[in-house]
Amino acid sequence: MKANLKCPYCKEIDKVHIPKDICLPFHKCSHCNKIITAKKECCVICEFSDKKCPVYMQ
Ligand SMILES: [Zn+2]
Repeated sequence: MKANLKCPYCKEIDKVHIPKDICLPFHKCSHCNKIITAKKECCVICEFSDKKCPVYMQ
């Protein structure tokens, strides 16, 4: 499953593969090459994308 992760820096959408059983605390934006880190939520999927990570849904 993929999530549409919106970069907080350049506002571009990255299609990110959601890991099955782990949180994704970092993601490197393929547009601006900045490292996106989760601050409020457990992972960047939960915080910046339109999906929730599998850990969150359990
Ligand atoms: Zn970016």
